[in-house]
Amino acid sequence: MSYRVVFHDCNSPLQVEDKELPPIHEGEVLAKIKLATICGSDLHTIAGKRWTATPSVLGHEAVVEVVHSRRDGLKPGDCITFSVIDCCKECDRCSRGLEQKCRKLFKYGHSAMTNMQGWSGCYASHIVLHQGTFCVQIPGHIPDSIAAPINCAVATVVNAVSQLPSCAGKNCKVPRSVLIQGAGMLGLYSCALLKERGYQSVYCTDFNEERLKLSLLFGGTPLTTGSTEFEHIIAGQSFDAVIEVCGVISAIPDGVRALRPGGTYLLVGLVHPDSQLPITAEQIIKKCLTIKGIHNYSAEHLHSAVKFISETVSKYPYGMLISPSFSLRELPEAIKAAQSQQYLRVHGQTQQSGI
Ligand SMILES: [Zn+2]
Ligand SMILES: [Zn+2]
Repeated sequence: MSYRVVFHDCNSPLQVEDKELPPIHEGEVLAKIKLATICGSDLHTIAGKRWTATPSVLGHEAVVEVVHSRRDGLKPGDCITFSVIDCCKECDRCSRGLEQKCRKLFKYGHSAMTNMQGWSGCYASHIVLHQGTFCVQIPGHIPDSIAAPINCAVATVVNAVSQLPSCAGKNCKVPRSVLIQGAGMLGLYSCALLKERGYQSVYCTDFNEERLKLSLLFGGTPLTTGSTEFEHIIAGQSFDAVIEVCGVISAIPDGVRALRPGGTYLLVGLVHPDSQLPITAEQIIKKCLTIKGIHNYSAEHLHSAVKFISETVSKYPYGMLISPSFSLRELPEAIKAAQSQQYLRVHGQTQQSGI
């Protein structure tokens, strides 16, 4: 049985549509969705806070199994992840390593069903991956629920961390101290990634004490936003880098304050229209700061993300961030669970979970 869950608009219920699978063309891959997770951007779309072309099949974080391949190197049964974007690999943007900004960009889970036959989202039994989509094999020791967020949350964080410059000081190959703003999925992955890359001091801030406690398990040092200790550490102006993954503009002045002169500020989570920054150019100039926006990632980051999770899957408790299983056919139930924020990621599965 093949089906897809169709999103029309934020005022209409999601609609399960049973549908024959399409033929695939040269370079394409038809894959079964093994397990998909609900990303925050999907929740924003469903709540009407983020525009997307409709009708569409949402969902872009998933691990899939190849059913039919017309691409070299992939065969039926292969368990893979894939880039959330499809690109031409030839335009000026692709050739500069910004495939996610390709002039012919196609995004899985964010495109109208009229584009590319409609099997383009992960809230479905199957997906068609196009010729310009990077695919990476998932090693067998990574559980599906841990593999699913790799192609959005993990790869984005890998991109962010790869932007941090080496510091010029003697015997210092990487920045020594980083402040992560937000103990959500991206923040916790950032803690683990920075720790594995040898960063000496990785602080993680959040208002939410429960989430913040998790940062300890991922190699971070928790720091409650607004606490006395927080004020003391921020006032030290000693961080080489700050990574914003909280999506909250009120965090920005603290981030600027926390940086040392010449530091780097990476903006990752504020990817929504309500994001006018409450800082002045003077603050940036006088502190000689570099501010950089990070959106999605390119092929190299996806490869590194799979490698990172593969190497650390038994070291960090990634599984505890993911909810018990829902059926993808019962997506509204899963969305309710995701909106309750009991889990950082809620996951849905196809047939094997019982529907
Ligand atoms: Zn996402
Ligand atoms: Zn391109």
